[in-house]
Amino acid sequence: MSVQTAGRRTRRPETKLWRVPVRRVERVTRRLVRVTVGGDELADFVSAGTDQNVMLYFYPDDVELPEPLTLEAARGMWSQVRPLTRTYTIRRHDPGAREVDFDFVLHDAPGPASDWAQAARPGDRLIFVGPSPAYQPDPTADWHLLAGDETALPAIAAILRALPADAVTKVFVEVADAAEEQPLPVPVTWVHRDGEGTLAGAVAAADLPSGRVDAWLAGERSSMVELRAHLLDERGFDRRAVRPTTYWRRGEAGT
Ligand SMILES: Cc1cc2nc3c(=O)[nH]c(=O)nc-3n(C[C@H](O)[C@H](O)[C@H](O)COP(=O)(O)OP(=O)(O)OC[C@H]3O[C@@H](n4cnc5c(N)ncnc54)[C@H](O)[C@@H]3O)c2cc1C
Repeated sequence: MSVQTAGRRTRRPETKLWRVPVRRVERVTRRLVRVTVGGDELADFVSAGTDQNVMLYFYPDDVELPEPLTLEAARGMWSQVRPLTRTYTIRRHDPGAREVDFDFVLHDAPGPASDWAQAARPGDRLIFVGPSPAYQPDPTADWHLLAGDETALPAIAAILRALPADAVTKVFVEVADAAEEQPLPVPVTWVHRDGEGTLAGAVAAADLPSGRVDAWLAGERSSMVELRAHLLDERGFDRRAVRPTTYWRRGEAGT
């Protein structure tokens, strides 16, 4: 399972390293922190569209980083120090304000990204590389299925913004509990883990439209495997129209 089909992805903007100060930190829900980074450092940032994502770089606190820190300089240091890297979606890019928002899910197990977000304060600096090209919804599809967990919410929100207002959508999002729901511009079937629901179970129970589907799915690995199997084996969806991406694996640190 992989990030899907080059054919339907936007052209890749220049990959650069960005080192940008935190402007604001907002606790959106108990388990979600929105970190806004911004400044002239983002003057050249060009959006890659919908679910565009970047690689966050986390260096040990005591490492002295060169100024300016370019991608070449960071790579040149790899034999001495390699950052821990984690992938995150651009939740919002405001070119006028030169700002980018990231939504971090705070999970119970320690991890450099979740821990960084939990402690983030204005003035801290976030280093990231990208953005990577994004998924483009199929304009010829009769309807769009978007399904994922809370890590996929930033991408789902961005994909919904990119769809025409009259697009037919079915959206399923799995979150810890009702307090983790977020407003989205279309009706959403929320699945609560504390109610022991699963994403695949909710999709299986749903009355789905007929016609040609374009399905974008992202979340925990086993949930993606289960959901993809349901869509292909039980619903008989065309496998080329079903695009699952593993965003994280339970019990395993990301890269
Ligand atoms: C293309 C892409 C876009 C992504 N966008 C986002 C995004 O916008 N927001 C976001 O929050 N995540 C996003 N993710 C997922 C994120 O990269 C992973 O959750 C990542 O592993 C978190 O890193 P960490 O350092 O916090 O924890 P890690 O060091 O990677 O993991 C430590 C432990 O925490 C567990 N863990 C990791 N993530 C979660 C979780 N979400 N819930 C419960 N346990 C978890 C792991 O299984 C492991 O046991 C995205 C992933 C991809 C591939």
